[in-house]
Formats: sequence, C-alpha cells, structure tokens
Amino acid sequence: MSDLFDFGPARMMFAVMGNPVSHSRSPQVHAMFAEQFGIDLEYRAIHVEVGGFEQAVSGFQASGGAGLNVTVPFKRNAWRLADDISVDAHLAKAVNTLVFGEQIYGDNTDGLGLIADIEINVGLSLEDLRILVIGAGGAAQGVLGSLLSKGPRSITVANRTKDRAKTLAKRFSSTGIVRGAGLDDVHGELFDAVINASSASLNEQLPAISPEIFAEAKLAYDMAYGTGPTVFQQWAKSNGVEVSADGLGMLVEQAAESFSVWHGCRPETAPVIDRLRRES
Ligand code: NDP
Repeated sequence: MSDLFDFGPARMMFAVMGNPVSHSRSPQVHAMFAEQFGIDLEYRAIHVEVGGFEQAVSGFQASGGAGLNVTVPFKRNAWRLADDISVDAHLAKAVNTLVFGEQIYGDNTDGLGLIADIEINVGLSLEDLRILVIGAGGAAQGVLGSLLSKGPRSITVANRTKDRAKTLAKRFSSTGIVRGAGLDDVHGELFDAVINASSASLNEQLPAISPEIFAEAKLAYDMAYGTGPTVFQQWAKSNGVEVSADGLGMLVEQAAESFSVWHGCRPETAPVIDRLRRES
C-alpha cells in the first residue's frame, strides 16, 4: 500500500478511490483543470479492496493527501467517515469529495454536476418541469436534493425494485413534490425530462418501462456514458426525443465542483468535455 502513496517531492496530492477504478477519467480531468490555473498537483486512481476504505484513507491522509474523490462502492463509507459534511452530502447520505484538514470535510458534488450539465451545457431550465428519474441507487440518491432545489413541478422516481424508490422519495418528501414508483406504475404518465439514473446502459440494457414516458419529453438524459450515444439515448431518439445527453458532461461538472472545493476556483469545463469526447 505504501508505494501507492509515494508521490515523490511535495506536491498537492489528490486521488479517486473506488472499486473498480481503473476506468476512471478523473485523473485526466483534474490534470486538465490544474493546467488551467498553473496548479502543480498529483491525482491518482487508487483501487481499494472492499472493507479496506477507512484504512486506505488514513494511509493517504498520513502521507500528506489533501483531498479525495470517492466512487462506487465507498460513497456511503466516506459519508460516515467525514467529521463535517455539506447540506448536499447530508441529503444524499453519500460523499464523493473529501477534504483533509484538522477535520475531514465531506461534500457531494454529483447533484451540482448534473444540474450544471443540464441547465448550462444542454440549456434546459428544470424549473416547473415534470421530471422522471429512473433508478433509485447511489446516483439517484446523490442528485435528488439538487434536482428538487431547482423547483420542478414534480419528480417521480421509478425503480425496478419499487420499495427502494418509495423509500428514497419519502426521504425527500419535505423538500418538494416527489414520489416513488415501480417501472410499471408510470404507464400513461407524461414527463418533460427523463433522467436515466439506473445502471442499465452499462450492460447495454434498457429499463423495462413504457416508451410512452417520452411522448412529451424535451430531454432524455443518461447518467451513463461510453464511446457514443448510449442505448438509452438511442431508444429515446427512436421514440421522438430530439435532445439527449450522456453523463460525460456530469462527470466533468461534478469534478469541477470538487476542484472548486479543494482549490477555491472553478475551472472551465467546456474545453475539457470537448477533449474527452475527441479522445474517447
Ligand atoms: P447503483 O448500483 O447504486 O444503482 C443501480 C440502479 O440501477 C438501481 O436503481 C437498479 O435497480 C437500477 N438498474 C440496474 N440495472 C437495471 C436494469 N437492467 N433495468 C432497470 N433498472 C436497473 O448504481 P449508481 O446509482 O451508482 O449508478 C447508476 C448509473 O449512474 C451508472 O450508469 C453510473 O455509471 C452512473 N453515474 C454517473 C455519474 C456521472 O458523473 N456521469 C456519477 C454517478 C453515477 P434495483 O434497485 O432494482 O437494483
């Protein structure tokens, strides 16, 4: 483990910890951000065994680490580990950004990342929209508070395992109009924006939900991303949705929020998204 934390001469050290993590584009993204400000930093992807997160974090911190991103399956561990957390992390009960000082501060930037991608990059205001979120896992949990803060008319969380959606929606019910449902329950309902927060696309699958959800949709957003349009984006297009996006923009925007938490300045994201698209 100690070699992993040997970053050479004193530079600011950051990393993303996850399992799996080798596919992560975060090191590349943070290197491009740092270049914009002339900041000298080291950012690595560190594979951590399940059960070893807390030990890995203390090792990283002891070797001078300044901050960490945390990805699947450790966001909940990071939430428990932090001494102080942001409102977003509190609502999500999950942390994707840790800052090491006298205390450990935890934030969750996934929601702000999604909002920035939809409202700024895609250019669609979420205010007063009927939003369907498909999926009720960590990603849905991380973004629900931010989505509700934009004043949508309603949010429906539809999940393969219905109880999970109901439990999640209940947790946020004091923040806005949000309900949980099974995938079958939304049959015949209309939405302005459909956000796929399920991991189905990662296996080239579609959620078993009626394509009628797209009848009035202005946007189909898939949090997953790959080398081209995801199966979900293709399905939305074949059902008449003209505007769709994958999750690459969200990835870069949430990273920009983390960068801002660590360095106090927010990088430009458009050139980074462009470059990643060209290189993928
Ligand atoms: P989780 O494993 O926590 O949750 C997976 C969710 O997907 C569950 O709700 C699960 O339903 C549902 N699901 C899985 N397979 C299917 C299927 N075939 N049909 C219908 N529903 C399905 O994963 P995360 O929430 O962490 O991640 C979800 C997606 O979001 C992934 O694609 C991930 O890559 C992406 N993501 C993107 C980010 C970005 O920055 N772009 C950031 C974070 C996540 P059930 O409860 O029934 O099992």
